[in-house]
Amino acid sequence: MRILVTNDDGIHAPGLVVCEEIARALSDDVWVVAPETDQSGVSHSLSLNDPLRLRKIGERHYAVKGTPTDCVIMGVRHILDTPPALVLSGVNRGQNVAEDVTYSGTVAGAIEGTVLGIPSFALSQAYSAETRQKPFWETARTFAPGIIRRTLETGVPRDVLINVNFPDCPPEAVGGIAVTTQGKRDQDLLRIEARQDGRGNPYYWIAFARRERSTPAHGTDLLAIATNRISVTPLRLDLTDEPFMTRLAELFAEATV
Ligand code: MN
Repeated sequence: MRILVTNDDGIHAPGLVVCEEIARALSDDVWVVAPETDQSGVSHSLSLNDPLRLRKIGERHYAVKGTPTDCVIMGVRHILDTPPALVLSGVNRGQNVAEDVTYSGTVAGAIEGTVLGIPSFALSQAYSAETRQKPFWETARTFAPGIIRRTLETGVPRDVLINVNFPDCPPEAVGGIAVTTQGKRDQDLLRIEARQDGRGNPYYWIAFARRERSTPAHGTDLLAIATNRISVTPLRLDLTDEPFMTRLAELFAEATV
């Protein structure tokens, strides 16, 4: 089974090595195509106004001056003669749950694989202030191959990607696997941090307050991670809200425009 590995933390990220190890536990045919630099938070962006620079850094290892989406397209449509049967994106340094999913370059790598018709997984390792410098990569490394293998055996539906988050604890402390829904965070946590440069001019960073404000809802990715369980969420490419679509269809069927 041919596997394409990418990430959003960049070609030098420790999580990429972990992802490659996970891929190697599943197959010998592993290819790595990852961004030259950290692309965290770029979501599903495509480089349309800048050229993509491709750098071969070793056997089956390539760096692309672009986004995770660029990397997957580059891998599938240019580097590989035969397309991969699986795309793995990660392992991200930090969880990608709730609204993170909409900002995440890691999830986007799996989105692009899915767009191209390839079963795809986003893999993320949660950390805390204490484990920021040394996340429990061993947890992702231990559990990811089995989760991926079993999910593939069941068959991933078309247009669905699998978002897997590993809790901030060592493997022996993991309390199981929870199949979850995408949660919802308290967006009061999002804020702008103002600073001053050397000439007294203001500049700003987007920042998040550290602590979760409320107890996450039952069945969510947030709750699974908060309770040291591995979160597995199937995500659809189709973002249509069908119940509201039905109501809108009724509304505009009657309306005279
Ligand atoms: Mn990242």
